[in-house]
Amino acid sequence: MLTITPIPALDSNYFWVIRPTPNSKMVYVVDPGDATPIIDYLDSQELTLGAILITHRHRDHIQGITGLLERWPVPVYGPDSDSIPQITHKLGDGDLLRLDGISFEIIGVPGHTWEHIAYFSPSSATSPPLLFCGDALFAGGCGRRFDGTAEVMWDSLQKLGALPEDTRIYCAHEYTQANLAFAVEVEPDNQELGARFEQVKRARAQGNITLPSTILLEKRTNPFLRCQQPSIKIFVENKSARTLATHAEVFGALRLIKDNWPN
Ligand SMILES: [Zn+2]
Repeated sequence: MLTITPIPALDSNYFWVIRPTPNSKMVYVVDPGDATPIIDYLDSQELTLGAILITHRHRDHIQGITGLLERWPVPVYGPDSDSIPQITHKLGDGDLLRLDGISFEIIGVPGHTWEHIAYFSPSSATSPPLLFCGDALFAGGCGRRFDGTAEVMWDSLQKLGALPEDTRIYCAHEYTQANLAFAVEVEPDNQELGARFEQVKRARAQGNITLPSTILLEKRTNPFLRCQQPSIKIFVENKSARTLATHAEVFGALRLIKDNWPN
């Protein structure tokens, strides 16, 4: 079986280590924001690095690249951005990547940043479908919109929401509890969301990780994937004192409310 291990680091990041089989000595890391904890982990497990995968240009996703390359001079896959000169293989929407028997489809997800990409691996004999989506989609939330229009980012999230419902979501931050605290304000009558929030609070009180999520769970409980719900449109229109015509406008206004929440 393929396994995925989180390395918690920085304030709230997870660096994901992908091991193709239990006997693999070569592994792959997604969004290394710091080299040291990754080198320590790989050394402790007697593993070696095969490649680096990058989702977007923010420092907490790329600061570890140079340190890792000093130890292991491996390919670096990622989006085309002047801010990430270490990328050796540029990837964009629709590209395919095959690493050590693992297939990835590249999905362009602009919005958090314009160049942001996600890595989707379809279901296989050794793994359910997997999604490494950086800061585009979080468990219970989504990244801030730094680049592009609300419509562009809404379209990106719709692409992720259209993936198979059993897709495991490996996003880059442990933000789930704070995201769900906001989500229950938006949808107080969503019972599945309320139950999820209680479960996540218990997990965090015990120091446990809340990932991976799944596409199905996000479609049922993440307000940023649910902007077509009439109750969410009403919530957002009341809070923003505006009439909103499209799902993308509801999404954009909801994202702005969250940016300033809980004020
Ligand atoms: Zn980011």
